[in-house]
Amino acid sequence: MKKIQMVDLGSQYEKIQDEIDTAVLNVIRSCAYINGPEVKSFQSELESYLDVKHVIPCANGTDALQIAMMALGLKPGDEVITADFTYVATAEVIALLQLTPVLVDVDPDTFNIDVEAIKAAITPKTKAIVPVHLFGQAAPMEEIMAVAKAHNLYVIEDAAQAIGAEYTFSDGRKQRVGTIGDIGATSFFPSKNLGCYGDGGAIFTNNDTYAANLRVIANHGQTRQYYHDEVGVNSRLDSIQAAILRIKLRHLDEYSHQRNIAADFYDKAFKDIPQIKTPVRFKQSNHVFHQYTMILNGVDRETLRTYLMDRDVPAMIYYPVPLHLQKAYRDERYNEGDFPVTENLCENVISLPMQTELSTEQLTHITESVKSFIKNNYQS
Ligand SMILES: *Cc1c(COP(=O)(O)O)cnc(C)c1O
Repeated sequence: MKKIQMVDLGSQYEKIQDEIDTAVLNVIRSCAYINGPEVKSFQSELESYLDVKHVIPCANGTDALQIAMMALGLKPGDEVITADFTYVATAEVIALLQLTPVLVDVDPDTFNIDVEAIKAAITPKTKAIVPVHLFGQAAPMEEIMAVAKAHNLYVIEDAAQAIGAEYTFSDGRKQRVGTIGDIGATSFFPSKNLGCYGDGGAIFTNNDTYAANLRVIANHGQTRQYYHDEVGVNSRLDSIQAAILRIKLRHLDEYSHQRNIAADFYDKAFKDIPQIKTPVRFKQSNHVFHQYTMILNGVDRETLRTYLMDRDVPAMIYYPVPLHLQKAYRDERYNEGDFPVTENLCENVISLPMQTELSTEQLTHITESVKSFIKNNYQS
């Protein structure tokens, strides 16, 4: 059996190697390394895939979030509401821009931002909501958009973990995540669902004015060459990465399908184990399973991890510490116990290998290992 990895990018590459190698060599030979034709083509192909008017490629997902906040003219002191249970980048850019991150708890089933908690956190200073589509399924966008409209707030979607996931509105209309709010942001970090072979990111919007602003800010605040109307940043997607992403975009739906096959396998294997709560599927979104994250009930997580590691089964904790308890984000507004759902998740979640290349043999070894640990320790 091939060694099991959280993400097996090598085996994935082998299947598309000829296409990738040719594309990369073509860029090298073209000498158009920055803003070349590959970047333009990827941009328009991603616009079609997402059914969004504008895609603005940039250097990484963190930049994408930062540029989005700059383009909306958010100013120091403005409050931005986001989830306490997420990757740090979401809150980091808020803090870097000297905006005030206002953290709120999440839903215990979907791990996504809690709409009632958003409502309770709104003040006269609130300017924006940043929902994160965590682990591959959509946050409750219809409700979030309604709250935003009622309070005149911007919505910036962090779609770094859920590109390709579709949200279904109550009237049956479907829209891809990242294209529903004012602006969406994503990352093409290698391990993301649509990953390149280095760093990359993109910003999405249906609004022409925001799109123009986003482009200017991502390019040194430049309106025409050597004329800078505002302070911007330097954030570009390389042509080589764009060429790779063009190929992988064609496989994205098939990749999501492979991830779902693995998730279904796990769900089935663990369905009768009271110590394991498998991921809840949110009815208004399909799941693209960036992570397969389960909640352990009365299980010693570290001992389980060690046991799995001894059997060559990697497992990760996404995320071990809530944002409000991270040293960098601790302030007098927050205490331990303020966000009980997030705090409980941080103590009890565990993520199993989730990727496009898992064989039935590997999946069986993973599930049998987890099951034997539970059986030996909790069911004898
Ligand atoms: C990965 C990730 C980011 C940041 O993307 P980078 O390309 O690594 O900068 C932001 N938000 C979330 C939720 C992520 O998972």
